[in-house]
Amino acid sequence: MPLNEVTITRAIIDRFFRKLMDHLEVDVAVVGGGPAGLVASYFLAKAGKKVAIFERKLSIGGGMWGGGMMFNEIVVQKEAKPILDMFGIRTSEYKKGYYTADAIESVSTICSQAVRAGAVVFNCITVEDVVIREGRIVGLVITWSPVEMTGLHVDPLSIRAGNVIDATGHDTEVLRVIERKADVRLNTETGKLLGERSLWAEKAEKVTIDNTREICPGVYVAGMSANAAFGGPRMGPIFGGMLLSGKRAAELIINSK
Ligand SMILES: Cc1cc2nc3c(=O)[nH]c(=O)nc-3n(C[C@H](O)[C@H](O)[C@H](O)COP(=O)(O)OP(=O)(O)OC[C@H]3O[C@@H](n4cnc5c(N)ncnc54)[C@H](O)[C@@H]3O)c2cc1C
Repeated sequence: MPLNEVTITRAIIDRFFRKLMDHLEVDVAVVGGGPAGLVASYFLAKAGKKVAIFERKLSIGGGMWGGGMMFNEIVVQKEAKPILDMFGIRTSEYKKGYYTADAIESVSTICSQAVRAGAVVFNCITVEDVVIREGRIVGLVITWSPVEMTGLHVDPLSIRAGNVIDATGHDTEVLRVIERKADVRLNTETGKLLGERSLWAEKAEKVTIDNTREICPGVYVAGMSANAAFGGPRMGPIFGGMLLSGKRAAELIINSK
């Protein structure tokens, strides 16, 4: 049978919009498909939560593809190795307590398993605002990234979410908009974003986990976003904290009421 271009087009439009319609109301909306967001999504989906990941870029994986300075090897400490093992990602001991893994294998495997566990990725979509009701964040305002990039005068759409995870990395984009517009006090010392501090790997890797928590009603922070929100130092190109933070964010949501 000859291929029909219109059938191909119909298939894409039909399937995509069915997927989008099915995720206009979710248990958890994860903003940012970097390592923290992907790991959180995997564990949440595994626990039966309906999860949508919104990622601004065409590709997911955030800063993990490039290891450190675009050298595509990642380093994790021994505390995080069990997560890579669980995903079946091959590691190699470099020195006692330091393990390396191929960055490409790591990102593609974690993404694949998050999606197979049931998390749905919406790439090329930017979260530009939140939906708020009586002091609680109850949803996200989303737009196509090219609309944002070109500055087109186009209204966004919105989705509902039981919980949101800000896993947007250094820029804490969801929290910035909440701080600016939502009139909600953040669960930090000052009630505002504290901002990221200079590099200290040992301390940063520890505080990343402590900083992974609910920062205002309905919103959790994970990964670099957690450190930036609570004034933690950056850690340099070691990824264990990102993986452990994603797992912790998922556990906190799964175990909340
Ligand atoms: C300037 C810079 C400095 C860095 N410094 C460090 C460092 O000190 N230590 C370190 O470990 N790593 C650093 N990295 C590397 C990297 O960011 C992190 O290691 C790691 O990838 C962070 O993981 P994450 O999951 O928290 O966020 P990221 O990997 O950064 O992923 C966040 C994702 O969120 C997406 N996103 C952001 N805003 C939105 C939005 N509004 N809507 C939808 N999607 C959105 C981004 O496109 C990205 O894919 C740095 C990266 C950069 C760019």
